[in-house]
Amino acid sequence: CGIVGYVGPSTNRRAQDVVMEGLARLEYRGYDSAGVALLDGDHVATRKRAGKLTNLRHALNDNPLPDSSTAIGHTRWATHGGPTNENAHPHRGGADGKLAVIHNGIIENFHSLKAGLLDAGVEFTSETDTEVAAHLLAAAHERTGDLTQAMREVVNRLEGAFTLLAVHADTPDTVVAARRNSPLVIGLGEGENFLGSDVAAFIGYTRQAVEMGQDQIVTITPDQVQVIGFDGAPQEGKPFEVTWDA
Ligand code: GLU
Repeated sequence: CGIVGYVGPSTNRRAQDVVMEGLARLEYRGYDSAGVALLDGDHVATRKRAGKLTNLRHALNDNPLPDSSTAIGHTRWATHGGPTNENAHPHRGGADGKLAVIHNGIIENFHSLKAGLLDAGVEFTSETDTEVAAHLLAAAHERTGDLTQAMREVVNRLEGAFTLLAVHADTPDTVVAARRNSPLVIGLGEGENFLGSDVAAFIGYTRQAVEMGQDQIVTITPDQVQVIGFDGAPQEGKPFEVTWDA
């Protein structure tokens, strides 16, 4: 339902705080669970809770995540699988759990994709359509060693509506995102960049935004924003300045 992504310097701002603030600003959209993932050295750390953001805040207070420069956050409106802690996003992929994914929308062909993964011995920890994307991305990343390339391979196998954000512990300071039939906006900062399901996600930090087009993938690092189409060709989003109060 609500999506936030952040890459920045490891000093001055904590990625977790940026993402939690973004999620709070997206609360108006309605949701039933919330979660965050951040890069922590050679692994990905996640916290997620059913219920309001305060539940997630309590979980983070009780069990703090380390400081990080790269994080993603999600508020979920359940479509596949009830509103439980397990079904909350982010979802991890790969045997090593080094990859985490958040998703808005519905992956229409998840049944057949899941059947294939189950046949291959993949174990699922949720009832969501989203988790297939996490496992497919982890497998594609293992093969290609490149998170953007992995995203490109996987989105071409998905049907339906999705905004997907992924982080991988082997790709520090990077968030890769894709969109089809579901919104995604980039927020441009100085030495930091943002992603959001709408500008409210990052309005507290920047008003320079880029609207992603249909069937596009973006890779953000603290200093770079690179957009390609699902076919791999370089593309551009539509830049605009946020002049209203979100
Ligand atoms: N279909 C996904 C789920 O049920 C994502 C729902 C959403 O957009 O929040 O987990």
